[in-house]
Amino acid sequence: MITVLCGGVGGVKLVDGLAAVLADPSTLTVIVNTADDWEYLGLSISPDVDTVLYTLAGLAGDERGWGIDGDTWTALEMLKRYRLPTWFRLGDRDLATHLARTQWLREGRRPTEVTAALASALGVVPRVLPMTDARVATFVSTPAGRLPFQEYFVRRGARDPVTGVEFEGIEHARPSPEVLDAIRSSAVIIIAPSNPVVSIGPILALQGMRDALSASAALRMAVTPLIGGTAVKGPTVEMLRGLGMRADSAAVAARYGRFIDVFVLDIRDRALRDTVAAAGPPAQPPAVECADTLMTDPAGRRRLARALIDIAARHGIEVAATTA
Ligand code: GDP
Repeated sequence: MITVLCGGVGGVKLVDGLAAVLADPSTLTVIVNTADDWEYLGLSISPDVDTVLYTLAGLAGDERGWGIDGDTWTALEMLKRYRLPTWFRLGDRDLATHLARTQWLREGRRPTEVTAALASALGVVPRVLPMTDARVATFVSTPAGRLPFQEYFVRRGARDPVTGVEFEGIEHARPSPEVLDAIRSSAVIIIAPSNPVVSIGPILALQGMRDALSASAALRMAVTPLIGGTAVKGPTVEMLRGLGMRADSAAVAARYGRFIDVFVLDIRDRALRDTVAAAGPPAQPPAVECADTLMTDPAGRRRLARALIDIAARHGIEVAATTA
């Protein structure tokens, strides 16, 4: 089994590539950040989970990273007439997902069960798991004040300098039993190219998660979210700098530290190989591998997925893939 830890747009592209090239996509498990979740107009919204579900169901469009391709906006127009806030754009079909999630949660189902029900209805084959069934909420400190993540990210366009990040509720949040089981029974665990602070950060900060990863016998790999010191999309660089960190692959490798055996650097940054290895824990530096990690189209997603399968094979783990 392969397990991927991921956030939204960056991570999901790799997940999509893996689902396309694995001989048996049902052996893929995706553990998704839920610290971006929030309640809006009374609805329970789980943006990263939905990005993963819609992408794997073939419903996501281009690289926009949210919502359903070709969705319509009739409900949103009506909300406007009621003068309700519409900056968080909910398409009609997307809205139905949030209604279903909210209803099922109110009936007492766990977020893990609700996600499984949505995935099954959408025909998603890989297993999609919210990182926890507990409530965790990201807040960012900015010169404009302490903002809930979606206010910062969507409403204000991620333009405020971030000087601090908090995951409210994290001290009581444990990974679900399904997540722990996936980590225990995986042959390969991949930290996707997602924002290391606000997408992967909350997953690693769950109570017991670091112990579970340390105890896992899996080959643990991380893929850089930065190429040439810049993010492909989103505020990763600004966020790392705002938190006083260097913004390059070595800093990301240092953050993942002893939880990874292999760090996959972009081929364009191959000169950083030694710096990345040296950024890991001295007693257990990661092996550094290079691949073309830029996923600009579906072929790019599959190419990176195959490269990771090849890297796993070089480290002694055979994963069955379709022939190219
Ligand atoms: P969000 O929750 O929607 O912000 O999405 P993620 O956290 O999953 O992804 C954001 C991160 O993914 C950023 O750091 C991007 O640089 C990175 N990213 C996006 N696309 C790619 C890509 O094609 N290749 C690599 N290596 N990183 C990417």
